[in-house]
Amino acid sequence: MDIVLKGGTIVTAKETYRADVGIRDGRIVAIGEDLAGQRTLNADGRFVFPGAVDPHTHLELQFMDTVAADDFYTGTVAAAFGGTTTIIDYAEQSKGGTLTEAVQGWRAKADPKVVIDYGLHVSIIDLREDVLDELKDIVKQGVSSFKCYLAYPDRLRDDELLQVMQRAGETGGLVNVHCENGWLVDLMTSKLLKEGKTGPRWHPRSRPSAFEEEATQRASILARFAGAPLYVVHLTCEGALEAAKRARRAGQRVFVETCPQYLLLDIERYDEPGFEGAKYVMSPPLRERANLETLWRGLALGDIDSVGTDHCPFNFVGQKDLGRDDFTLIPNGLPGIETRVPLLYHEGVNKGRITINRFVELVAANPARLFGLYPQKGTIAVGSDADLVVWDPNKRVPLTVENLHMNVDYSPYEDITVQGYPELVLSRGQVIVENDRFLVKPGSGRFLPRKPFSVL
Ligand SMILES: [Zn+2]
Repeated sequence: MDIVLKGGTIVTAKETYRADVGIRDGRIVAIGEDLAGQRTLNADGRFVFPGAVDPHTHLELQFMDTVAADDFYTGTVAAAFGGTTTIIDYAEQSKGGTLTEAVQGWRAKADPKVVIDYGLHVSIIDLREDVLDELKDIVKQGVSSFKCYLAYPDRLRDDELLQVMQRAGETGGLVNVHCENGWLVDLMTSKLLKEGKTGPRWHPRSRPSAFEEEATQRASILARFAGAPLYVVHLTCEGALEAAKRARRAGQRVFVETCPQYLLLDIERYDEPGFEGAKYVMSPPLRERANLETLWRGLALGDIDSVGTDHCPFNFVGQKDLGRDDFTLIPNGLPGIETRVPLLYHEGVNKGRITINRFVELVAANPARLFGLYPQKGTIAVGSDADLVVWDPNKRVPLTVENLHMNVDYSPYEDITVQGYPELVLSRGQVIVENDRFLVKPGSGRFLPRKPFSVL
């Protein structure tokens, strides 16, 4: 064996036990006692987690008139420092373009820069007959999930969403839906702007939780009619969760993702002095406090299946301030690719809200299963890729902008110090992070063709 991780406590979605992990040619080849190899890494007193899988990122995304601040290098380096060894990014179709072009364009951006493995979803912006016909090929190319926006100007209409769902059901693609009713958001926004309400605190008031609940319910019903599975991205509130739960109780395959920001931050952030509230402008927005515990309960009880980031960072100075006089011009998005795993561990496991196995399930196993990467990714088993995180449960890290590696000028979590942090991170058997050091070159990550969706 090339490397043996010695003496750690292995944690998967199902089990916690002490054993050595043997690695050869980038894969796990043995799990057991007293393993020996050319190189030994000591994991005594630490946990060994599967590398985490972030199912929702937007690197180098063009949004409004600017581009997300992390590219595929800085973004994946930051992900690795936080214990994430796989991301699934959203390739975005351009108007008039095909999905294949979107995927090729994203690969051209990502392949030379990524330092961890990555897969792609594709966002459908311009639905045409030829695009519907393309879905089957896209799944064959290993891009087995499609995003449909119901918010934003490029959103799909209901008849378009239904057609995507019907086609996806036949091809083995999973439809990911951003559930907010964009027509109602437009109505509310123009009313607020007419009243001179232009600051960041009006952003969440322009897209209240009722609009998300309605869209979640509508998407669920259309999915039922189409006989297709549905993945609701970044769910934020009780009403939307209830809509998803109703569909599940009726036997539908509706899966739910939330993000750390919706578990930890609330609508009061928009009232921070001056223009500071712009830091939290994203869609859907942060919600009233009561929703946070509802989401935590959803994670614990199994009503929410995965935790992604929706990482889409914009600098406070030079990007967020494009909307200083009009909240609708503030680029939407938050940094989070590096902090997801430590935050979920600290706020979830340390505080007794979820078990350590459930934590691994939410940040690694379920995103891998849902998106056709399991068991290559998301678990620790013989035959799996040796994507591993040696986790020091005692290491304390304040999540200040100085301590983080994302290419953005603020941290939404300045006031949080987490306990529990990666010490070593391996990608396909190679140590890529060792404490504060980053050890591999751009382009060392690989594109992951994903399997079609199959029932969990
Ligand atoms: Zn997103």
